[in-house]
Amino acid sequence: MTKQQRLRTLPKMDDLLRVIESQAGDLPRSLIKSVIQDELACYRERLLVGQQDCCDQEELLTGIRQEINRQSQPHLRGVINAAGVILHTNLGRARLSDECSAMLASVGCKYSNLEYDLNDGSRGSRYQHVEDLLVRLTGAEAALVVNNNAAAVYLVLDSVTKGREVVVSRGELVEIGGSFRVPSIMAASGCKLVEVGTTNKTHPSDYTAAISEHTGALLKVHTSNYKIIGFTAEVEMPELAAIARQNQLPSIYDLGSGLMLDLSPYGIAGEKTVAQCVRQGADLVCFSGDKLLGGPQAGIIVGKSVYIAAMKKNHLLRALRIDKLTLASLEITLRQYLDPERAVKSIPTLRMIAQPPAVVREKAERLAGLLAGVGCRCSVVKSAARVGGGSLPAVELTSYAVAIQMEGLSPNRLESKMRENSIPIIARITDDCLQLDLHTVEPEEFADIVLCLKMIISGLG
Ligand SMILES: *Cc1c(COP(=O)(O)O)cnc(C)c1O
Repeated sequence: MTKQQRLRTLPKMDDLLRVIESQAGDLPRSLIKSVIQDELACYRERLLVGQQDCCDQEELLTGIRQEINRQSQPHLRGVINAAGVILHTNLGRARLSDECSAMLASVGCKYSNLEYDLNDGSRGSRYQHVEDLLVRLTGAEAALVVNNNAAAVYLVLDSVTKGREVVVSRGELVEIGGSFRVPSIMAASGCKLVEVGTTNKTHPSDYTAAISEHTGALLKVHTSNYKIIGFTAEVEMPELAAIARQNQLPSIYDLGSGLMLDLSPYGIAGEKTVAQCVRQGADLVCFSGDKLLGGPQAGIIVGKSVYIAAMKKNHLLRALRIDKLTLASLEITLRQYLDPERAVKSIPTLRMIAQPPAVVREKAERLAGLLAGVGCRCSVVKSAARVGGGSLPAVELTSYAVAIQMEGLSPNRLESKMRENSIPIIARITDDCLQLDLHTVEPEEFADIVLCLKMIISGLG
């Protein structure tokens, strides 16, 4: 066949539009049209280069339907995290508690008192909604919240140390997920980084020797996502704060994760809480809202009133400000901490960390039973879950997973099929086997997992 003959086998745009529209429900016409155009163009290309002799109309229609289906779903949507990483940065870090969702609906879909003082009907401040709570929970004098912790560090440096030298240990020049690096954020905020000590050891005398009339602050950075072990020494907060005080300088602690509760009853020791850092004399402590705190993405700054007041006056604050949905869910999460026992039960991040292995095992056995019921070959295996999100890198949580084998489907293909499910399921491949780690899966998600695997199995038959 000639090129022209091959191309003539393509159906007309209007004919395709009629067929698709009669089946597509109430999807916007513009969307349907552009998908058909794109799919037709693709097909035309294949015919032109002779990859195909004539148009297979059914194949074309199936392609169009699949693409319409894909495009008519929201791009950002919920997934099931079966990867066993509790604060998975790529999967949105902390899961919010059920209590947050009602508040998100109420503040997001209605008017609110975001910047309105209900006592006297005058203008209010958005920062007021959580400041008292943060002060109560951390023992600090004042608090301020911004878009994320990177913004918090930036605002602190810009407001408190602008143009001056900031002293940091060489062991703490952290990079978090590529885009946040302590040296770069310093440069961006216009202050000058002064490195002291060595990678493995920094002593109090290193800080004192570096202080001059150009110094603006002493900064301590939590080495969130790595650990230096062996022959090491770091200057802890009480001592760093004392050196800062003697030299009339602010001490700043970028704490990263922001633990609000002592997790040692759950086997996680050695991580200081925000309140402890404040008690140890840090003038300013900043941390994320969506790491160990278990709330929405936010940057929280607590500390001395004079510094917080300077930040509230900084014009940068407008560019870094927190939005109302974040504030609504942050307030609810912080309120849950007023009763620590309730916090561990109702904040998903804490609940997952505190889960006893026997509970995870029981979930794994229940899911394996349900999957076996739809003809899936699987077994329960011991695994290790992680906290993730650059928190507690040395901690492994005893966990259990359901390992799945499928005749005629490689672990990689199975993994991608589960990822393409209408509710995407993010699994893990360990020892050349697909595993669903139950540490991060809740029982109410079982039905969707079973349905997905049932469909995969029937597709193979
Ligand atoms: C995670 C982290 C940050 C960045 O926080 P985001 O909330 O992700 O912006 C900054 N510093 C440290 C030490 C961190 O662990």
